[in-house]
Amino acid sequence: MANLVAIVGRPNVGKSTLFNRLTKSRQAIVSDIAGTTRDRQYGKCDWNGREFSVVDTGGWVVKSDDIFEEEIRKQVIVATEEADLVLFVVDVTTGVTDWDEDVAAILRRTKLPVVLVVNKVDNNDQQYAAAEFYKLGLGDPMCISSMSGSGTGDLLDLVLSKLKGDSGELLEDGIPRFAVVGRPNVGKSSIINAFIGEDRNIVTEIAGTTRDSIYTRYDKFGFDFYLVDTAGIRRKNKVSEDLEFYSVMRSIRAIENSDVCILMLDATRGIEGQDMNIFQIIQKNNKSLVVVVNKWDLVENKDQKVIDTFVTAIHNRMAPFTDFPIIFASALTKQRIFKVLEMAKEVYQSRKIKIGTTRLNEVMLPLIEAYPPPSIKGKYIKIKYCSQLPNTQIPSFVFYANLPQYVKEPYKRFLENKIRENWKLTGSPINIFIRQK
Ligand code: GDP
Ligand code: GDP
Repeated sequence: MANLVAIVGRPNVGKSTLFNRLTKSRQAIVSDIAGTTRDRQYGKCDWNGREFSVVDTGGWVVKSDDIFEEEIRKQVIVATEEADLVLFVVDVTTGVTDWDEDVAAILRRTKLPVVLVVNKVDNNDQQYAAAEFYKLGLGDPMCISSMSGSGTGDLLDLVLSKLKGDSGELLEDGIPRFAVVGRPNVGKSSIINAFIGEDRNIVTEIAGTTRDSIYTRYDKFGFDFYLVDTAGIRRKNKVSEDLEFYSVMRSIRAIENSDVCILMLDATRGIEGQDMNIFQIIQKNNKSLVVVVNKWDLVENKDQKVIDTFVTAIHNRMAPFTDFPIIFASALTKQRIFKVLEMAKEVYQSRKIKIGTTRLNEVMLPLIEAYPPPSIKGKYIKIKYCSQLPNTQIPSFVFYANLPQYVKEPYKRFLENKIRENWKLTGSPINIFIRQK
């Protein structure tokens, strides 16, 4: 089970600078996957071979002065409920403010590990000034300068020492894990209830070793899978339900622990920013995707034109990744509910596809021959051979070329499209690597 770290603190203390520093190396790697726009809010941090996710609460504040402080306060509460560790960032140049004291009071009550981070400690004098923060009652302040990076290595060591690591839930191998995700009120609990029905015997809670378990086993009607975070979806938090930050924290946990994400959209609202944010978290984690356009019962005119318009709108927003199923369903009337599970199962199978090397080359080499990579600076680029890599998280293909550095993104997309045209990879992200032969 992945770990989730939340950065909280007033505006301008340096949360986003710290976030960028913690997630930088990793983002450089993932950035070529898709046009991720709001990177500041969610990223991965790698340190000494361990990985955890970081969320910057500052990225999720609605810009409105009157509710501002109250909103951040709520986010702190959500962070203490949903994260595994909180980084509370304060600013040495302003000293302790009233707001810092309020937040410290909330944080002192939580059982979660909290690390007090005094930022903007750019020199030794400020190191002494940082002693003032002891009075927040959150233990030793960790002095850092997010700008220069000094102190961040020690901070990361401390964070890792406080994170529990893998909770070791005992899940059976080869059973897919499905997560139902989407913004508040889209119908997540309703669809899960529709899957499960009144017959509570279908599901069994799996004993978890940390907090309440996030997996529920479903085994009926020819389906056998784990539903991720069902308990979390059912148990709503009234105070914070309306916060986007809350639904994001919930989504991250569910997405990271799944294989296939069932992303729900609301047919009466179309596709909005919040939906896109969740989609991007799915992409960053390389999860497979089924899109459900829910509340289809409320759409009066269900003709093909309306369906096509929906599909086009969804594809336009999610491009270049468009090879996933879209199902028009109703959790209320249970229309196409089983179709959703069928597609989730299929998509999981695409994720596990194994393409033999001979067949792959038979199909791909003639296509490459007919449409070779464009030559660059008069250099002729030749791809001679390809194969699927064994034991990867998602289907990954390597193409061996004489000058791999000259094979650019559009050509990789061409290769990806050709693979998708010839094999069934619906819903699954894939990797294309070009290497020296
Ligand atoms: P946020 O609102 O908490 O996310 O704060 P930002 O990360 O946007 O930073 C606010 C300002 O503080 C920016 O002008 C940063 O350049 C500056 N800042 C951030 N970290 C440091 C630091 O370590 N030292 C100094 N001197 N300035 C910093
Ligand atoms: P969640 O916040 O995503 O878990 O959403 P809920 O499952 O709690 O649903 C929010 C509201 O939408 C509830 O009032 C549901 O009854 C309603 N709802 C959910 N699915 C459907 C649907 O397919 N059709 C209609 N008409 N209403 C639905």
